[in-house]
Amino acid sequence: MILAIAEPSVPASDAATMEAVSCAVQISAIRSSTVILASAGKDFEEFRNAEGVRLPCDVVLIEGQSLAHYNAEGYAAAITGLIDHLNPTEIVIAGTSRGGDLAPYLAMRISAAYISVVTGVRGEGGSPVYTRPCWHGKMEMDVVSRRERTVVSVQPGAFSAAPLVGDERFHVERFPVSVALTATEPEGTLAVSQGDDTGLANAEVIVSAGRGIGNRENLSLLMELASLFPRSALGASRPVCDYGWLPYGRQVGQTGRRVSPRLYIACGISGSMQHLAGMRSSAHIVAVNNDRDAPIFRHAHAGVVEDCATFIRVFLDLVKERENGKATQSEEI
Ligand SMILES: Cc1cc2nc3c(=O)[nH]c(=O)nc-3n(C[C@H](O)[C@H](O)[C@H](O)COP(=O)(O)OP(=O)(O)OC[C@H]3O[C@@H](n4cnc5c(N)ncnc54)[C@H](O)[C@@H]3O)c2cc1C
Repeated sequence: MILAIAEPSVPASDAATMEAVSCAVQISAIRSSTVILASAGKDFEEFRNAEGVRLPCDVVLIEGQSLAHYNAEGYAAAITGLIDHLNPTEIVIAGTSRGGDLAPYLAMRISAAYISVVTGVRGEGGSPVYTRPCWHGKMEMDVVSRRERTVVSVQPGAFSAAPLVGDERFHVERFPVSVALTATEPEGTLAVSQGDDTGLANAEVIVSAGRGIGNRENLSLLMELASLFPRSALGASRPVCDYGWLPYGRQVGQTGRRVSPRLYIACGISGSMQHLAGMRSSAHIVAVNNDRDAPIFRHAHAGVVEDCATFIRVFLDLVKERENGKATQSEEI
């Protein structure tokens, strides 16, 4: 059987959990096997209260006092207990911040192969062949496991999080564990401030800055471009936030916001998997990049191969010219 692991402390309908289940279902079709979704924690109120969740598999709740707060040591020990009980061939975990922490730890613990950042899976001779990006997303590689057991972490956004065909009344079983933590002792979690409200969630148009904009000063050009559209907002890739050019609340991607505006204008953004995870569902993607081979062009509906600042200045001038032309025409009338 294939074991999918739910994202800790979130409802069963969480996108990351659903994506892990989607991948597990694909592996189970290749192996002619079944899927079980396991969630570890102390209190499953939110998980249980998720309304209208449809799952194509049964659920096991791994319950333990030491699992109140996520920590790799406790979670890996608890999940190992269930693995010993169920004997899965694959353990599928969403490649979120927590999943990226847990998956290699768990793989080491159970002496399994570890395949990270998986974006696709297909069958060959009844065994799964995994696809993952390499060379900063410019190439993809196929990977097969040589071990009897494999831990797979799934790239957020790569598998469908849409409600899966299944049953609302999936069977739920409890699996109590007692885990003694020896290396770590979690003391709680602190929410990190995401900065001011950015308007990203409701924006119809997002102009997003990447490292390729070159410097903080060029942000004013992007702001002017965004101001042409009502209900627009400024987004950013991670390096732009790391440099302190914009606050982290504006970061789009796997560890930032997930957005799906009507128009996403990516300026000087290469199109890493982690950035795409947050914006690939945008209705229209326009990319401006001076490298014609940048991966973002494979996902963009329209592309401009040009220096960002040059393109935006020319575009803004054209808009102004058109507006001046319209104003002169109406004066003549
Ligand atoms: C666990 C993890 C989580 C992550 N989460 C996120 C996340 O949530 N969001 C995120 O964005 N990243 C995230 N990252 C980082 C991610 O891997 C990339 O490093 C990042 O997205 C790259 O940002 P970028 O495209 O702005 O920069 P780069 O990859 O450096 O790309 C810059 C682009 O600008 C182009 N360029 C250069 N000069 C110009 C110019 N003058 N005019 C036009 N184009 C130009 C270049 O050709 C290049 O394509 C994460 C990484 C990890 C490991």
